[in-house]
Amino acid sequence: MGPTGSQKFAVFLCKFSDNSNVEPFTPDFYRQLIAERGTGGLNDYWIAASQSAINLDGSDIFGWRTIQQKQADFLAARPGRWDKILGAMAAFSEVDTSKYAGVIAMYNTDVGDGGNANNGVLASPTGMSVTFLGHETGHVVGLEHSFDQSTRKDVTWSAPGEYYDMYDIMSAMNIYSTYDSRFQQKGPLLCAANLDRMGWLDSSRVWSGQSANSSWSDVFDLVSMSHPEIPGFLAARIGGLYIEFRTQELWDTAIPRAGVLLHVVSDPNAIIIASDLTNYVDDWQPGQVYGPPDLSMAINGGTQVRILSFDLNAKNARISVRFAARRPIVVGPGQVLGGVGSDGGGWLILNGRIIPIPPRSPVMSLAEAMANYVNAELNLGGLAAGLGLGGFSGR
Ligand SMILES: [Zn+2]
Repeated sequence: MGPTGSQKFAVFLCKFSDNSNVEPFTPDFYRQLIAERGTGGLNDYWIAASQSAINLDGSDIFGWRTIQQKQADFLAARPGRWDKILGAMAAFSEVDTSKYAGVIAMYNTDVGDGGNANNGVLASPTGMSVTFLGHETGHVVGLEHSFDQSTRKDVTWSAPGEYYDMYDIMSAMNIYSTYDSRFQQKGPLLCAANLDRMGWLDSSRVWSGQSANSSWSDVFDLVSMSHPEIPGFLAARIGGLYIEFRTQELWDTAIPRAGVLLHVVSDPNAIIIASDLTNYVDDWQPGQVYGPPDLSMAINGGTQVRILSFDLNAKNARISVRFAARRPIVVGPGQVLGGVGSDGGGWLILNGRIIPIPPRSPVMSLAEAMANYVNAELNLGGLAAGLGLGGFSGR
């Protein structure tokens, strides 16, 4: 679970004794970039991305202040990222940083590195976009990197698939982001799986379905994650699978098209489920089905998610879910009881139920059905098939 409510950051604007004339932006600019609402900056981003669970209200901007050291000397003395963040905190030693959720050390020139360490963020003019700060402050509040299912490596030191959910801020900077001449890269949102891990998904807005082992199906609509003001479900959770609908607008302007996303969580990471793993396509379009094929569903049970349609005016996607129970195994391999009726049909007793076989079955004869059943028991390790018997279905 993550924090909720106001996450105050202390932003330290720092320059060096040999470049103290360099102030790339005014303190007011950073206030609008990070602390204020209604500017299209980081506070607005987190309100949207957290579905209003957190905001940055109360964040403070300090500086510009000159560190009494030349830049080269400072960097030589502070090789690590956390060292550089501590250097900014030391320059503003009068500020009690324990009152803040985290600190942002904002230098006036490139300091050769940028990112998160502990509860701090190292930033500079080459690393201070809304996307960059969104990702790094995301770490501060407890988020970790997102992955896809591929074996690709984004950088030499990253794990396979790490930084490859291009729809999730926790894969930045390898994400779909737009460019704003004022605040640079922006977006995308945070995926539903990460939201739920943080405790930021309102459960009343999550469609959920599960079953110990009874078959069912249902249809529901999901509202775009960009439009929480529209009533309805924002996400669905089925067992460990998260479903969400994303539309090409606002913080998600740069995604290639409207699409449904599927994720699972392997705590603490979210993993996006590809619709086409070969071509690295991670969104799901109307007509596509996630889950086992019908034959496997009939034998092993399982869950199928079908994308039915998108309504881009209403900002919603219609989804159907079918859960197929797996037949409990009561009789052992070969222990099928059955008989032939006087009309040429027949019956089987499976699990205490009498299963009629219609006469002149277009699918198979009783003998074939029984043989198939026995073979299925033997071949599938005791998972009864019952295929083609017809006429029975769960409720
Ligand atoms: Zn990161």
